[in-house]
Amino acid sequence: MSEETTEANTQDEANIEELDRYECRACGYVYEPNKGSSTGKIPPGTAFSDLPSVWRCPVCGASKAQFMNVGPIEGPSGFKENLGYGLGVNTLTPSQKNILIFGGLALGFLFFLSLYGLR
Ligand SMILES: [Zn+2]
Repeated sequence: MSEETTEANTQDEANIEELDRYECRACGYVYEPNKGSSTGKIPPGTAFSDLPSVWRCPVCGASKAQFMNVGPIEGPSGFKENLGYGLGVNTLTPSQKNILIFGGLALGFLFFLSLYGLR
C-alpha cells in the first residue's frame, strides 16, 4: 500500500500530523518521514521522534540533536518548486540586465565626457 496524496489529506491517521521534516543544521540534509532513510534502514512513515537515538545524519553523521524541525512536507516542497521555476526565468534576465547597466553606464560616461569637454 502506498499513499500518494498525503498533502492536505489528514483524515487517515492521527500520526500524520507528527510527520514534520527535520533539517540537519550541519549540512542541510532534510529527513523526510514519508520517505524514511534508506541508509539508516528507516522505513517510510517513521516520524523523526521515533528514530533511534543512535540515528545519525546519513550525509555528515551529525546526531539527532543537530536537527531542527522545518515543518510538514507540503509547504516547503511547493516553495522549492517555485524557487526552481524562478531560477529558470531568472537565467534570461542577467544578460539583458548587463546590457542595460553597461549601456546606461556608457551613456552616462559619454554624457559626462561631453559636459567636461564643453567647459
Ligand atoms: Zn548532516
